[in-house]
Amino acid sequence: MPEGHTIHRLARDHRPLLVGRVVSLASPQGKFADGAALLSGRTCTRIEPYGKHLWYLFEGDLSLHVHLGLYGKWAVGAAAPPEVRGQLRLRMTAGDAWLDLRGPTACEVHTRADHKAVLARLGPDPLRRTDDGELAWQRLSRSRTSIGQLLMDQTVLAGVGNVYRAELLFRARLSPFTPGRDVPRETWDAMWADLRALMRNGVKTNRIVTTGARAPVRREDAHYVYRRAGQPCRLCGTEVRTELMAGRNLFWCPTEQLEP
Ligand SMILES: [Zn+2]
Repeated sequence: MPEGHTIHRLARDHRPLLVGRVVSLASPQGKFADGAALLSGRTCTRIEPYGKHLWYLFEGDLSLHVHLGLYGKWAVGAAAPPEVRGQLRLRMTAGDAWLDLRGPTACEVHTRADHKAVLARLGPDPLRRTDDGELAWQRLSRSRTSIGQLLMDQTVLAGVGNVYRAELLFRARLSPFTPGRDVPRETWDAMWADLRALMRNGVKTNRIVTTGARAPVRREDAHYVYRRAGQPCRLCGTEVRTELMAGRNLFWCPTEQLEP
C-alpha cells in the first residue's frame, strides 16, 4: 500500500499538470460517471494531500477525493492519451496532460463538509509542516494498545504504513509490543522527528530508504528489518522476526528492540 510519502509526491507531481487549468473528467469504466460529469469543465484550484488521502479541489467548493488503498494506481502522460483498456475508473485531461486512475479504494466527489469530516478523523501528518506530534502523543500515551498497532492507526498518525512502522520502531530500538502508554515522552519526540525526516526524504526520492545507504541504493540495502525475516539483523546479527500485527506483517529485531 502506498504510504504518505507517495501521496505527497503525487500531489507535487500533479500540481503543475492540473492547478489553474480547466479539467475534463471521464469514467470510461462507468463507476465514477456521475462524479466525473459533476466536476468536468471546472478549474482545479488546489491539490491537498493528507496522510494517505488526496483531494483535488475544484471551483464551486467541490473536490475529488482519492484514496488509493492497496491497489490504486495513477498513470500520467503528455500528448495523446492511450487507448482506454481495462477498468479505468477515471481519466482527467487538462492542457496536453492526461492522468489515469485505476483500482482506487475511494474516488468520489466531496463537498467542503465531506472533506472536513475526513480530516477531523485523521491524526497529524508528519509531512505537513504545520502539524506536530502532540495530538498523536495525546492519543497513544493513553492507550494500552501496542505501539506497532497505534502507528498504523490513521486516527493517531496519518500516512504511516507498514514499511515506515517497521523501520521507525527499529531506529528507535523500541519493541513493537510496547503499550502506547509505556512509551517514554522523549522516545516519542525523537520518533516523530525521525519520521518527519524519513518521510521527507521519501517524497524527495520517491522511495523509502531508512538505512542511510548512499545512492544508488540496492533494494536489499534500503531497510533494516522490513521484509528481512530470517535474515541477520544488520547491527547485531539476530534473526529478524515477523508476525502479523494490525493485518500486516510486522518485522523486528528481538534483541535490540526492547520494551522500556
Ligand atoms: Zn538487532
